[in-house]
Amino acid sequence: MKSFLLLFFSIATLWADAHIFVYHRFNDSRYPTTNTTDEQLRSDFEYFKTNGYKIVPLATLVEKLDKKESIPDNWVVITIDDNYKSFYENGLPIFREYNYPFSLFVFVEGTDKKYPDYTTWEQLREISKYGSIEFHSYGHGHMTHMSKKEIIKDFDKGMSLIKKNLNLTPKYFSYPYGEFTPRVKETVKEYGFEAIINQNMGAVASFSDKYDLDRAALVGKSDLKPHLNQKALEATWEETLTYPQDKVLKKIHVKTNATATKGKIYLSGYGWTDISLKDGELIHTFNKKLLHTRSRVIVSVGNQISNKLIIKDSYGTK
Ligand SMILES: [Zn+2]
Repeated sequence: MKSFLLLFFSIATLWADAHIFVYHRFNDSRYPTTNTTDEQLRSDFEYFKTNGYKIVPLATLVEKLDKKESIPDNWVVITIDDNYKSFYENGLPIFREYNYPFSLFVFVEGTDKKYPDYTTWEQLREISKYGSIEFHSYGHGHMTHMSKKEIIKDFDKGMSLIKKNLNLTPKYFSYPYGEFTPRVKETVKEYGFEAIINQNMGAVASFSDKYDLDRAALVGKSDLKPHLNQKALEATWEETLTYPQDKVLKKIHVKTNATATKGKIYLSGYGWTDISLKDGELIHTFNKKLLHTRSRVIVSVGNQISNKLIIKDSYGTK
C-alpha cells in the first residue's frame, strides 16, 4: 500500500497540463536536426506508457477547450509536420504497434509534385486510416513574407487538392517553420480551422487559445521530462509583440495569474534574466536590439511558461 501511494504521488507530481508534441522525420539519418530514430521514438512511447500518459487525438483536446472544461494533466497529443515518406515507412508501423493516434500536417506540394522525400496520395490515404490528415500549407512558404492574397492562393490550392485526392477537409492547421504574426493568424482563422498549432514550447490548459496552441518539437535525443513538467502560464500580453522598426525591443508588459513574486524572462540572443512580479503583473524594460528577424520572448514563473515570437512581417501588422 505504502509503495502504491508513493508511486501514485510521484506520478501525480510529474503530470502538469496537456502537451502537444511534433515530430518530423523518422529514422532518416541524413537530417539529424529534424530526425527521430526508431530507438528514440520507442523510448518516448515507452516513457508515455510507463508513466501513465494518455495519448489522445488532437480533436479530443480541442473538444475539451471548446467546452472550457479542465484538461487532464496526463494527456499528450502527437503531431507530425511535413508528410515525409520516412513517416510512412518507419514511423507509422511504431504508431500502429502502440495504437497511438496522431495528426499529420501535410505540405501538399511535396505530394502533388511527387518530391521523392514525400508521401504519395496513396500513402496518405493509407495513413488516414490510423490518424488525422491536417493542413500545413501548399507551398510551405514563410507566411510572414506572404501577402493576404498570396496566402489565400496557396491555401485554396492546397485545401482543394486534399479534398480532391483524399475526400476530406482538414480541421487543423500548423504554420510552416512555426512562423506567424497577428496578421497571418487572422488570415488563417478566416479558413475556419477548428484549431491552429504553433511551434512554441509550452503546455495546454483550459484557458489556452485554441488558435494559438503551444507545441514542443521532439527531435534528435529529446528529453521528455522537462517538456512534460511545464505548465501553461495564464498571461495577457498587454502590447502585441510586433517587430519594432528600429529593431529595439523596449518593454514587455504582461499580466499573469501567478501568485509568485519572482520569475524569469528570456529573449533570443540574450538568455534569461530574473524578474519581479507585483500581483502577478510584470513590466520589464529591455531596450535591447533584436539580434534576429525571428526572436522569442518567454516569461516563466516556476514551471509555468508563456511564450511569444517576434517576427518581421513584410506586410506590417494590418
Ligand atoms: Zn514544415
